Amino acid sequence: MLDRSTAAWLALILGLLLTAVLWRYVDAHLEERTRDRFATHATLARDNLLSRVQAYEQVLHGGAALFAASDHVGRSEWAAYVAALHLERSLPGIQGTGFTVMLLPAQLEAHVAAVRAEGFPDYTVHPPGYRDRYSSIVYLEPFDGRNRRAFGYDMYSEPVRREAMERARDTGTAALSGRVTLVQEFGTEVQPGFLIYLPVYAKAMPVASVEQRRAALLGYVYAPFRAYDMMQAIFRDDLRDADIELHDLHESPQTLLYASAERNAAAHYVVTHAVEVAGREWVVRFSSTPAFEADHASAEPALILYGGSALSLMLFAVMHSNARHRRRMRAAASHLAHSRDEFRTLVENVPGVVFRCQIEPPWRVMHISRGITALTGATPEDFMSGRLSFGDFILHEDVPTIVAAIESARISHTNYEVEYRMRGRDRRVHWVSERGRVAVDADDEPLRLDGVIIDITERKAAEEAIRNLAFVDTLTQLPNRRFLLDRLRQGLANARRHGRHGALLFIDIDHFKRVNDTYGHEAGDQLLCEIAARLRQVVREGDTVARLGGDEFVVMLEDLGDATAEAGEKAALIAGNILAALNEPYAIGAVRHHSTPSIGIACFDGGEQRAEELLRRADEAMYRAKAGGRNRLETLNAS
Ligand code: GH3
Ligand code: MG
Repeated sequence: MLDRSTAAWLALILGLLLTAVLWRYVDAHLEERTRDRFATHATLARDNLLSRVQAYEQVLHGGAALFAASDHVGRSEWAAYVAALHLERSLPGIQGTGFTVMLLPAQLEAHVAAVRAEGFPDYTVHPPGYRDRYSSIVYLEPFDGRNRRAFGYDMYSEPVRREAMERARDTGTAALSGRVTLVQEFGTEVQPGFLIYLPVYAKAMPVASVEQRRAALLGYVYAPFRAYDMMQAIFRDDLRDADIELHDLHESPQTLLYASAERNAAAHYVVTHAVEVAGREWVVRFSSTPAFEADHASAEPALILYGGSALSLMLFAVMHSNARHRRRMRAAASHLAHSRDEFRTLVENVPGVVFRCQIEPPWRVMHISRGITALTGATPEDFMSGRLSFGDFILHEDVPTIVAAIESARISHTNYEVEYRMRGRDRRVHWVSERGRVAVDADDEPLRLDGVIIDITERKAAEEAIRNLAFVDTLTQLPNRRFLLDRLRQGLANARRHGRHGALLFIDIDHFKRVNDTYGHEAGDQLLCEIAARLRQVVREGDTVARLGGDEFVVMLEDLGDATAEAGEKAALIAGNILAALNEPYAIGAVRHHSTPSIGIACFDGGEQRAEELLRRADEAMYRAKAGGRNRLETLNAS
């Protein structure tokens, strides 16, 4: 599966890519839209230019019509016609509207004289010199200072104007000239200029062919234009959005007619139109101004670029920190699981049983370690599933002890320790020691028990053995002197209480030293054990047989009846039996050995005898038996 950190990086890359694509798309789309707008703008401006030029042509056609309609168009008629047009208002930018007459060299003198006669004594056709054809500007309205400079000027003498004039003459239509400097120009504000000519033919003459038109030509209605003045007027409303250049025929510094501003090489949008004006071509170049570009600049692409990048980065930051967080969490979880496993291992390896259970019997288990199986034969799962609880294994009679220990620990807020017995599935009883504490909640309410149980069966057995050591003779396993004295005191008390008689038999083996000397000490031990076994066989179950030490044994006989004589007889009888039994031969290795005892008898009846006193009497009786020749009984009654 995809790693979360990788996913974050992928999301970042995808986000940035998407942002870039969207940014490029929107930017291109907006650029396209703005370009279209600028193109429309330029087209409208171009159309405006064309319609204005056509309007000027119309004025010229009007002028030509005046000549066609009237027999003689005089200076005043012309002035009236032009004044009526109010061109300065309707078509600003036009420098003048005039008429130039064509003259042959022969007509020149008369013409000059006629005009001078009109009240212009300085009138002359200029530039001077002989030419085979002359033209002369005779009318030019408004006839102001600037236009007066053109009065009498022979435009036909100048090649650029002449080309347009000839074209107009030959085609019979309006003709635009190339770039010129108008004769009206003077001073510092010299502008490029151009002219439009419309031919005026003699009324009665045919004008169907070029030759006929050439022959019929009288002159031209024409208009000179100062390019800057005119274009500034036409494009007035367009200049905020576009820088405009106008060229004659093609773009070059020499052909520049008009430039609204210095050319801006950084202009974003450029549209060029070729327009046909009166039989000649102009090239109009529109380039966007910073104002237009600012108006149409959109914040959208930048918003998308920065916004998208920021969003991608934010998403990345969130995903990345999320991934890091999850990595840390996972590490922490694995660390936790590891330490939990370690802890579990620790608990499982603790000798005994670690548990958590309820406070009350039967002590339902919440957690328990594997050690419980060795104790009970049941698995931890048996306990934790609730099928079994501690109560099922604890010996009934031990339950109150446990409850009491827990209760007192709860009250005193101390740990408790209690020993009790459990019976496993194999019916074996185990002694266990339980140490634990009562866990309480914030309100001191007991919640549960936490503790450890240790199997102390072996310890208990050892303690038992140690206890026995103090009371049992290790060679013969018979009770020793201490035990005997204890039993003797009990026996005396019983006798006193019930008025029953009993007797103490003191038995000493005759010449026992010789056995040791003859067969060795081990053989002596063997003999002592055999004697002990015979003594146990002879007496009743309830009677006590003890070894005092060396070759001395004591038998305590109880319940011998309530009469002294009867008790003495019974005691003597049993002592006789003992004597006989001990007289039986013994096998020491392959050797048959004969041994005898001397037995002293001391009877008791529950009087004031003390145990030690009774024992001393029996001993004394035994001495008497020895003294009497050994292998015999001697009774010593209470004195
Ligand atoms: P007597 O007839 O006078 O009783 O002679 P005896 O040889 O039996 O002398 P006594 O009763 O005074 O001595 C008992 C001897 O028993 C002394 C000792 O050497 C021996 N004896 C004491 N304890 C043991 C024992 O535990 N094992 C063996 N093999 N011998 C013991
Ligand atoms: Mg002896």
